[in-house]
Formats: sequence, C-alpha cells, structure tokens
Amino acid sequence: MSTSASLPEGSAAAQGPDTDPTVIDRLVKANQEYASGFSDPGMDARPVLKVAVVACMDARLDLHDALGLSLGDCHTIRNAGGVVTDDVIRSLTISQRALGTRSVILIHHTNCGLESLTEDFRHEIEDEVGQRPSWAVEAFRDVDQDVRQSMQRVRTSPFLLHTGSVRGFVFDVTTGLLREIDPA
Ligand SMILES: [Zn+2]
Repeated sequence: MSTSASLPEGSAAAQGPDTDPTVIDRLVKANQEYASGFSDPGMDARPVLKVAVVACMDARLDLHDALGLSLGDCHTIRNAGGVVTDDVIRSLTISQRALGTRSVILIHHTNCGLESLTEDFRHEIEDEVGQRPSWAVEAFRDVDQDVRQSMQRVRTSPFLLHTGSVRGFVFDVTTGLLREIDPA
C-alpha cells in the first residue's frame, strides 16, 4: 500500500469523498438536530455498568448496537486494531482508579486493516518524511493471537486495580457475532 499523503492537484482522488470539506459541516448540522431534542440525563461520569470496552476503530463496528449498550453504560477506548497500547493502559488506569470500572472487554474483528500492514509501514513513513514514528504499528497476522496478547497486557499491567475480569472477542463484520477467544 502507498503511504503517500500527496495527491496530484485536480485528480479524481483529490476530489473524492475523503477530501470533502463539507463532511464536518454535515456532522455539525446533525449535532444541532441532536441537541434540539436533548435533555440533560443527569448522569455521573462513572459508567453505569462499570465496564470499559477496548475496540478497533473500524467503521463497521457499532459497539453500542452490537453490545446492547446505552448512554452512560461504559467507557469506550478505540484505536487502530483495538490493541492494548501504553495509551490504552493510561485510559484503563483512569477508568478503573478514578471512575470505578471493574471489567474490560476487548474487541478485535475480522477483516481488520492491521492484518494487511507490517512494521515496514513505519519505515516507509520514515523514507517519505525523514522521521520514523516512535509508535509501533502493532500489525498482526493472527487476530486470535493478537486478542490473547491484548488480554495479557491488561492482566499484567501493574497500574490497573482490576485485572481478573478481562475477556477478549473477535467481532465478525459479516454476521455481527462475537466469538470469544480462549486466553490460554
Ligand atoms: Zn480493525
């Protein structure tokens, strides 16, 4: 895959939906409609179900619908892959120590974009911009194994209060079903 950020001026790609300047206007307009029917739910910041969800940022994964969650139920921590990185541990630490969550559910999914990348991605970026990112790509070949590794990172974190209630799943983007991963 190309990592180039530059597109020829006037090219079809440069005018595609990914460069549409009106998309944010559309979101802001939708918010105005949302707010017009919104009433203060009077909620505390502490998640009602005392659970944190760590999931991939994939656009096909609607966590609230897929897990039957409502406003205020959970913390949602998302990144590329749903990988447990240092920054996810930072959020989980705050979630547990300051805001009372006790369980963690990890959700990767089928057909994830990270399966088609390798750590070469960082080197390609370095070649292009002259600086190597400090972060790992966290690409993976085996989604089940990556869920296991993420569970292990939560379980072994010295910063978390609750590491016993951690379960990991793979969401099938074609059926909507979760498949649990055995941590062993
Ligand atoms: Zn993904």
